[in-house]
Amino acid sequence: MKPLFPLLLASAIACASMETMAATDLILHNAKIYTAEPGQALQQAIAVENGKVLAVGSDAQILALKQPATRLIDLGGKVLMPGFIDSHTHLVKGGLQMHQANLNNQDMPLDELERQLRQWRDDGTARRGEFLSVGGVPTSYWDRIGELEQRFNHGEWATTPILLAGGDYHTGWANRALLARAGVDAAKVKALQGEERATIGHHDNGEPNGFLVDAGLYPVQALLPLASDAELLVALEDAQQHYHSLGITAWMEPLANENPGGDIHNDSLGVLPAYKALAAKGGLNAHVAALLMADSKATPTDLDQLDQVRQQFQGIANLSLPGIKVFADGVAEHPAQSAAMLEPYSNSGKNGELLFDPQGFARLVDAADARGWLVHVHAIGDRAVHESLNAVAYARKQRHSGIHHSITHLQMVTPGDFARFQALDVIAAMQLDWAAADEMSVDLVKPYVTAQAYQYMYPAHSLLSNGATIAGASDWPITTADPWKAIYQALTRKGPQGVLAPAEAVDRQTMFQAYTLNAARALQLDRQIGSLKPGKQADLIVLDRDVFQVSPEALGDTQVLKTYFAGREVFSR
Ligand SMILES: [Zn+2]
Repeated sequence: MKPLFPLLLASAIACASMETMAATDLILHNAKIYTAEPGQALQQAIAVENGKVLAVGSDAQILALKQPATRLIDLGGKVLMPGFIDSHTHLVKGGLQMHQANLNNQDMPLDELERQLRQWRDDGTARRGEFLSVGGVPTSYWDRIGELEQRFNHGEWATTPILLAGGDYHTGWANRALLARAGVDAAKVKALQGEERATIGHHDNGEPNGFLVDAGLYPVQALLPLASDAELLVALEDAQQHYHSLGITAWMEPLANENPGGDIHNDSLGVLPAYKALAAKGGLNAHVAALLMADSKATPTDLDQLDQVRQQFQGIANLSLPGIKVFADGVAEHPAQSAAMLEPYSNSGKNGELLFDPQGFARLVDAADARGWLVHVHAIGDRAVHESLNAVAYARKQRHSGIHHSITHLQMVTPGDFARFQALDVIAAMQLDWAAADEMSVDLVKPYVTAQAYQYMYPAHSLLSNGATIAGASDWPITTADPWKAIYQALTRKGPQGVLAPAEAVDRQTMFQAYTLNAARALQLDRQIGSLKPGKQADLIVLDRDVFQVSPEALGDTQVLKTYFAGREVFSR
């Protein structure tokens, strides 16, 4: 009987092909293929039919599927993987910033900054309507507020409104011309109570010095003109191209109802029209899971209104709207310290701010879960994480929906919560590019949180060893979108000031899984993408080096040679 099996199998394949009139369009062979299917060894070849994976196996098995019209590509031993998936990126915002003046957190002497601003003013890069705006300004400039005032409130700048927006997205500096437009003056400072007064930096006489934090920054940002739908579309196209060059073929856009810099209401369409327009011209070559932001204090009724937005974007190829994003807190870095902590910050004795009421949020998660929507929570502080898990626990008690809710950022997690991620089926969507001993962690967090909280910063290994599913994410454009840089960080946790919580390092296999199948789960798309399995879409990347063998440093410099979306090449270098 034995010899019969291969024959039967071969004829079965032949019949199946003839019946469906299908053809093997593409075979990539002589490769090292990581399928991301759990437990599966590296394979040699893959066959693609009609944009989908037909089969993965040895060269002999796959080359046997060759037909006259099949395109054959010999990869010469190179590594091939599923297209990477970014489980949290502000893609259109990143695309807009690709064209806007940005310091990318690089500190430069003020003379140089002024020269740069002059150039950006003259070539239009810094112009936003009648304003000049520079993003990605390192927070180290806020130690030199007096010098900024000296320089940018006088002479050629005196009447030009200027905003230097912090690279942390929470702080900024506005010159006097801009403060005047925004109505930020001594009287306004005087009217603020207690902590609120610290959101507008000021001199002893109450006169604002230009430094602004969070709520203090909003009225200034609100003056900058928003991008038009046409500009959003260009930004999306450029950003998609950038993502393809990094080997990313799917992403979650967590604030899809935000036009970057604008307010979000239940009926805001944000960047969704850009996605719709790109899809309409057949150019959306990525899977996009777009989430609508629900207010932190939203009620189940708000979901009805958000659903009306969702309904306007149904049936668009490659675009799904699987749920909502909610902010649980802010950020941990000094001076903002708005992340909600179980133990108070040592300098202020305050615990940060939990943005939702725990019971109300539990009802919201439950209502979303009942609709079949996923909930993706921004949580930085350990209290925010804890309360977010509690809310999911409440929903899980009502039903088992099978929906993978997720928590993103996870800067601090109390050890008692590590095992709850698996137990509650909550995905940890982590930006491990941040796991470095640098100015942010060492100077702006460590002095103010408990030794234990610091010891577990970005606790990838602890979560993993407690069974959690880690999904890879960037939060671009806050930091790089390049997954290989984040993978390097996740492995080494090295930074300019040493190694951050070294016990929390994870291995490369974990990260490859995080950026493929695990991230697909976070997007609710794991049936379609995330691994190379027959029937799934053929989103593939070919790499320039053996990512299983090279050093972590070399791994961080990995270049993507080719990116395929649905079996079609969308990037090549
Ligand atoms: Zn984000």
